[in-house]
Amino acid sequence: MNTSALNPTTTFIKVWEIPGGIHPPENKTQSTQLPLGSLPIPPQLIIPLNQHIGAPAKPVVRVGDKVLAGQLIAQADGIFSANIHASSSGVIIKIDNFILPHPSGMSGECIWIDTDGKHEFIPAEICEDYLSEDRLILIEKIRAAGVAGLGGAGFPTSVKLTTKSIQKIDTLIINGAECEPYITADDMLMQSRADDVIAGAYLLSHILHHPQRIIIGVEDNKPKAVAALEAALKKIAKPEQDNLIEIAVIPTKYPSGGAKQLIQMLTGREIPHGHHSADVGAICVNVGTTVAAWRAVRFGEALISRVTTVVGESLSVQRNIDVLIGTPIDYVLQQHGFDESKASRVIIGGSLMGFTLHDLRAPVIKTTNCILAPSKKEAPIPPPAQACIRCGLCSEACPASLLPQQLFWYAQAQDVERLQAHNIFDCIECGACSYVCPSKIPLVQYYRAAKGTIRQQTADKEKADRSRQRFEFRQSRIDKEEAEKEAKRVARKKAADEAKQKLAEQKSAAAKEENKVTEDLSPVLAVPQVEAVVSAVAKANASQLSYEDQKARLERILGAAKNSLESARAPLVPKNPEFPITEEQLVRQQSRIKQTELNVVEAEKKLADFLGTASQPVEDPVATAIARAQAKLSQSSEEKLRANIEAMQARLLKAQQKTEQAKAENSPSAKALQMGVEKMQEKIAEAQAELNSISSEPNS
Ligand code: SF4
Ligand code: SF4
Repeated sequence: MNTSALNPTTTFIKVWEIPGGIHPPENKTQSTQLPLGSLPIPPQLIIPLNQHIGAPAKPVVRVGDKVLAGQLIAQADGIFSANIHASSSGVIIKIDNFILPHPSGMSGECIWIDTDGKHEFIPAEICEDYLSEDRLILIEKIRAAGVAGLGGAGFPTSVKLTTKSIQKIDTLIINGAECEPYITADDMLMQSRADDVIAGAYLLSHILHHPQRIIIGVEDNKPKAVAALEAALKKIAKPEQDNLIEIAVIPTKYPSGGAKQLIQMLTGREIPHGHHSADVGAICVNVGTTVAAWRAVRFGEALISRVTTVVGESLSVQRNIDVLIGTPIDYVLQQHGFDESKASRVIIGGSLMGFTLHDLRAPVIKTTNCILAPSKKEAPIPPPAQACIRCGLCSEACPASLLPQQLFWYAQAQDVERLQAHNIFDCIECGACSYVCPSKIPLVQYYRAAKGTIRQQTADKEKADRSRQRFEFRQSRIDKEEAEKEAKRVARKKAADEAKQKLAEQKSAAAKEENKVTEDLSPVLAVPQVEAVVSAVAKANASQLSYEDQKARLERILGAAKNSLESARAPLVPKNPEFPITEEQLVRQQSRIKQTELNVVEAEKKLADFLGTASQPVEDPVATAIARAQAKLSQSSEEKLRANIEAMQARLLKAQQKTEQAKAENSPSAKALQMGVEKMQEKIAEAQAELNSISSEPNS
């Protein structure tokens, strides 16, 4: 069907035909007889933290906190989450789980506010010229105000307006179709706040980079709303960059208010399976959401109330009200003369897409567009469902071109694969199929349940996948760490092997050096002699004395020899006065004196030789050591003994000095040192005696 717009501000907008659709009784007049009303502030507000499609917001207040209207009480947790604000001033008295207005009857975390009746607001940030603001700042203002789709989806508006760079939006559609029976909230909003709708449409156009077309789609059963919009359109100045807003009055047909259906009706563009409206260049925003976004930017108002239709024959007053989010539904019903005995049930939403509310204490949330309390006559209990007769009426009514009876069978069989293959997620749950079904099968309820199951399975699978990925990542990290440890261990082993190799090479080089010395000496020396020389070379290598050290050593030897001489020359004292000094003792003393004199002479000679010849440090200690060793080897027994005595005397001298020092310092080691001195003196005496005996031999 093609029709042109009735409004003079539009230019023959072509309206495209959409598949399916039904024409149920509208039931819209009951709630539009009274102007938009309001309620006294309820004594308590119960504000759920999950009023949108994403994760629940996180509380930022505690029990006992005083809050003002518009104050943030829970912060969005993730992109698709939305901020939650206090709807009125009062005190936080509880944060706990409570029943939510949801088809599943589930509960969720809520914040209770004991209202103080003052309805005091926090200071708001005014923005008079949104055109001079950066678009991202405007989107942030909308996000901060907690604006989410008021048409029923609860999709955060800031996310919808943040289009991808590849998505060129050429059409902005403001959805005022409101096709579902009984619901007139958007109609009343357009009638009473048309200025905000028009201003909001220009704001969204600015945020979306001024699309070529801005269309407000309204069903032709809302003439007052259309008139109000036309008046506002004439009154409100159009921003320079924007095109004129077109008001498209479309024929009443359910569900023309579905976003996909409205876009198709106004642009002829069909949104392919698995795609969004932005993918075909269009963005569709509900009129209530448009007003909320505008007020968030212009007046800094958080989304704390909404227009809701309160309708049904079990109520004495049927109308639309501007109700605070968090108001208990039983309070709303009471305020409208609810007669429970007359009521068939209480439905949240319209008669086709709504769901029965089982606990009337549940609160109004951002998506509550209608509270329907029909009488038993108005909405009788549906008769039991009969078997499907394959009449095909449901397929004809489906606006999404699905096969509802097939989906019904697959849903019954819980055949998830076939349900997905038949595009169950394209079902907008409009209920048109259920409405026309002669067997009164509650088809849409099967689809809702099946979608819930599939979503749960998908979530479980994603969770399992994430766990698996985490496990694999952890495993690969452990493997990597193990590999690194192994590489380090191999490197350490290699370094140790190299060090060992180097040490072995050094030892080998030293051995070669020793062998070389051995080879050099072996032609002229016997094996023991060679070993002695080698040992001397090693010693010489180990301690290469400096010139000063050698000089000091020779001086010490001379000093020791002189001391020995002095000691030898001392008069002999008998140990026992009864036994005088014998002749033999005197001879031995003379011999010792003679020997020590020789020692002194020799020591003086060595020192003189050293001072005369070794004015510079020895250049080749090894050669010297070899020479010394060779000289030692060539010594006679007497000479060796004498040299031994000399060496011992030198050591004795040192030991005596140390002992004296230890005694002077009262050191505990003095006694041990004294014993060492005495032992050494005995050894020297024995060696001296041996030398004397050798010297006295005829051949010596
Ligand atoms: S509820 Fe789903 S299947 Fe039924 S008519 Fe609507 S879109 Fe089609
Ligand atoms: S309308 Fe009902 S009876 Fe007819 S085919 Fe669909 S499900 Fe079956």
